[in-house]
Amino acid sequence: MELNASKYDRPVKQALIHGWKRKCPNCGSGPMMDGYLAIRNECAFCSQAFHHQRADDGPAYITILISGHLLAPLMLIIFEWYRPDPLVLAVSFILIFITIALFLLPRVKGAFIGLQWAKRMHGF
Ligand SMILES: [Zn+2]
Repeated sequence: MELNASKYDRPVKQALIHGWKRKCPNCGSGPMMDGYLAIRNECAFCSQAFHHQRADDGPAYITILISGHLLAPLMLIIFEWYRPDPLVLAVSFILIFITIALFLLPRVKGAFIGLQWAKRMHGF
């Protein structure tokens, strides 16, 4: 048991995993999102309120951070090894970036809200 753990601590890792799966960080069953990115007002299973979450631009920053760190070195490697036409390289990597960003954004947002819930931020 951690020295500073209290009965009010919530499991951060579990909340991040549930959030990544776009499920309620409290029960892990109810869907957190209504559509692609919209957050429900509360969980349909355990009534955990989500209306006070403040993810704002955080998930977008994290998504760009991850995507950029994956693709920037890859683009350099591809360019150095194969010397493709720059237009082909740019269009290819734009499409790959959009795909990765669309995949990551709702999952990162869910994990972000899961972290806010676990740390009792913004009224959780
Ligand atoms: Zn729930």
